[in-house]
Amino acid sequence: MGVEETLKALKVLGLGEIYGLKRREEPPLRGGERDKRRLLEEHFRSFRDCTRCPLHKHRTQVVFGDGNPYSPVVFVGEAPGEEEDAQGKPFVGRAGRYLNRKIQEVFGLRREEVYITNVCKCRPPGNRKPTPAEISACFPYLKREIDIIEPKVICCLGATAGEGILGKKLSVTKVRGQTFPYPYNPKIRVFLTYHPAYILRNPRADGDFTEDLERLRELID
Ligand code: SF4
Repeated sequence: MGVEETLKALKVLGLGEIYGLKRREEPPLRGGERDKRRLLEEHFRSFRDCTRCPLHKHRTQVVFGDGNPYSPVVFVGEAPGEEEDAQGKPFVGRAGRYLNRKIQEVFGLRREEVYITNVCKCRPPGNRKPTPAEISACFPYLKREIDIIEPKVICCLGATAGEGILGKKLSVTKVRGQTFPYPYNPKIRVFLTYHPAYILRNPRADGDFTEDLERLRELID
């Protein structure tokens, strides 16, 4: 008996599944759309062992984006810090707790209801800024993340995130609260404000940060 006949005979006997011959069914796509969670998981799996830039030597783990991929806004920070590197989640340190509080206060949303990520997915040693070369090595991962989520607005938290995404030098104090076209998708706007860690160091800027987030809320409403 040939292989094909053997497989048919096993199927008739109901033994196909036992021998792993049953075709795996893909989960249905939600509401006729792409299943963004599944696509993100596949994407993250594809680079969890990435060694594309020197930051891989210092990390505990790659820190992927986190939250609701159906969120109309994606917050993008610089790179993981010590706590993020240890826990494998972005913005879980002091600056992250402050950001969560502001998201709740201004948008009335819990952190899990929005999406948060970084331009660089591995922790730079000593929490230094990632270099332009490291940002550009990591950018394709962020771009794919954005392609999958396709939010209305990308909110860059600080100049490093804004420069990584827009590819030009920026002064946050000059361009905060403004929007720019996202270079890779005309449907997405890029918005800039301070990094939450800056506000913790300069509490007097809290009012400006709140004002920016209120403007952002208008953009996504
Ligand atoms: S920072 Fe990005 S490019 Fe560099 S090793 Fe980590 S995942 Fe790879």
